[in-house]
Parts: sequence; C-alpha cells; structure tokens
Amino acid sequence: MSESLLETVGIYKSFVGVQALKNVSFSMQPGEIHCLAGENGSGKSTLIKVISGVYTPDAGHIEFQGKQYKKISPIDAINNGIQVIYQDFSVFPNLTVMENLAFNNELAEGRRLVNWKRMKSIAEEALSKINVSIDLDAYVGTLSVAEKQMIAISRALMQDARLIIMDEPTTALTKKEVTNLFEIITQLKAQGIATLFVSHKLNEVFEISERFTILRSGEVVASGATSDLDDRKFSFYMTGREFEKR
Ligand code: ADP
Ligand code: MG
Repeated sequence: MSESLLETVGIYKSFVGVQALKNVSFSMQPGEIHCLAGENGSGKSTLIKVISGVYTPDAGHIEFQGKQYKKISPIDAINNGIQVIYQDFSVFPNLTVMENLAFNNELAEGRRLVNWKRMKSIAEEALSKINVSIDLDAYVGTLSVAEKQMIAISRALMQDARLIIMDEPTTALTKKEVTNLFEIITQLKAQGIATLFVSHKLNEVFEISERFTILRSGEVVASGATSDLDDRKFSFYMTGREFEKR
C-alpha cells in the first residue's frame, strides 16, 4: 500500500452539549479527490477545522505525509501544505485581484515596500496555474462567487498546497461554474494535489470524487470507492433510513 497523504485516527470533538465528532477515522492518498458527505450538522465543518488546526481534538490524532500530530496549529497546517477554501473565501473585498494574490507572499517575506512588478508576475503565475483569467486590477468585492473561489484556490497553490479542502464550494455556484470548478479540481489532481470536497449532493459526489466518507451524527457510517456507491446506499448512509421511491 502506498503511504497516505492524510489520516485522521479516532478523532473526538465535543462542544457544550454536542458530541460533534465521535471516533472519526478516514484516510486520503496523495492526489486523491475525496468527498466528505453528510447532512447538516453531521460534523463535516468541525472535522475540517480539526484537520486544518482551528480546533484541537479531544482525543485522536492526525497523520499528514507520515508525520503524526496530536495537535496541529493553523500555521503548521499551512506550512505542511494543508489549505482550506472556506465558503466566505477569506479574500479581501477592498483589494484588487492582484493585491489579494500577492499580499501573502509579500507579507511573508517581510517587505516594507510593495514591489508592484513582482506582485503582478506572482499574481499572473498563480492564475495561470489553474488556467483562469481574471482582470488583475478588478476589486475582488465586485467579482462573482466563482471568481472569488478561483482567487482563493490560486492563493492556496502559491503556498504550496498538497491538500486543498473545500467546504461546500458549490453552494452559490451556477451549473456552469460547478463544471469549471470540477475541471480545476481535476487539474489539481494532475499536479499531484489532493482535494477534500465537502458536499451533501449525490450527483456531485458521483461526478467528481474517487473515494468518499459519509458522516452521520459525528460518526463515519461509510467510506470507500465511489464506484461502489449507488443512490440507495447514499441515501441510507446520509439519513439512516431506507431509500423511499417517489
Ligand atoms: P456540518 O458542517 O456537517 O453541517 P458542523 O461540523 O458545523 O456540521 O456541526 C456539527 C455539530 O456541532 C452541530 O450539532 C453543530 O451545531 C455543532 N457545532 C459546530 N460548531 C460549534 C461550535 N463552535 N459551538 C457549539 N456547537 C457547535
Ligand atoms: Mg458545514
């Protein structure tokens, strides 16, 4: 067996009055497109926050590229190539596309004066990696949700992502934009970058993922190859109830 990119081992996380994650174990291979599914409140976002270091698990640990972490900090996660694209995209609306893309790098390198020429080439390179063309001088606040998402993905690539986690990325997208996003995820795979794609939509799971994990009430109820999944099983795993024919 090849070495996993990511493993979560027996993760528990509770909030006051809620056991959000209970003994959650699953794994991903390098470059794998993996769908994390589950109904609202099943623990998907909490699991993402544990993987990306936002929450410390109450028990269990994470292994990433062979290293074991009882607790991973958000900075460790980023430095090790774990990037999350949140629903709000964490982009700065009052900066231009170029500024959003180049900002992190310029800051990281502790520059006191902005080198605009350098920023432009960094920004262009980031977008070209995913074959996207967006006006670099546009204010991000004026862009569509899909375009903001592209910028967030480009930024993740600039920080050497090995795993990109997308929390319900299709919620506000049109059908065409979803198709575009799936093309980008496929391109990422070709570059060896894995995607953990969070969704509760069956058609999306089938269309994009190679493997899946389904959470119900904070527990993994199924995990495996998407080719072994069908709509009856999917519905049962998601709800715990038998599929009803309409
Ligand atoms: P999902 O992303 O699958 O919709 P979440 O991980 O957001 O589910 O939530 C799982 C459970 O944990 C829910 O019952 C939710 O209400 C609860 N929960 C999530 N975050 C918090 C929090 N910060 N404080 C208290 N309860 C939370
Ligand atoms: Mg969520």
